[in-house]
Amino acid sequence: MNPQQEPPDRQILWLHSAAPAKPKTGAPCNGCGLCCAAEPCPVAFLFLWQRKGRCRALEWDAETGLYRCGMLLQPDAYLFWLPQTASGWFSRRVRRWIAAGTACDSEAELF
Ligand code: SF4
Ligand code: SF4
Repeated sequence: MNPQQEPPDRQILWLHSAAPAKPKTGAPCNGCGLCCAAEPCPVAFLFLWQRKGRCRALEWDAETGLYRCGMLLQPDAYLFWLPQTASGWFSRRVRRWIAAGTACDSEAELF
């Protein structure tokens, strides 16, 4: 790094030791959890009123060894106002909003 350049923002993040390594940006998402551990996405921003820090809806799935989005899996567990009957509908919206299961759009890097 050029000494004239500002160092990139750095954070200490805690991730499960069994979580997969983050893939390159643009590669398929592998559920490493890094992006959601670093900062909340617009869904968390809007519905969980979370402005910074690790998203509280980030869930570790021990069975698959991957991080999953709780707002996708069980949104009614996080949104007290959401009826259980509407949970599936909301979950489908979240899947589209966060583009779940697509390419990794995180520029974060591990050091
Ligand atoms: S989008 Fe990228 S950083 Fe976020 S969980 Fe998927 S692979 Fe990891
Ligand atoms: S709402 Fe889901 S996708 Fe968004 S930051 Fe939280 S865990 Fe990640």
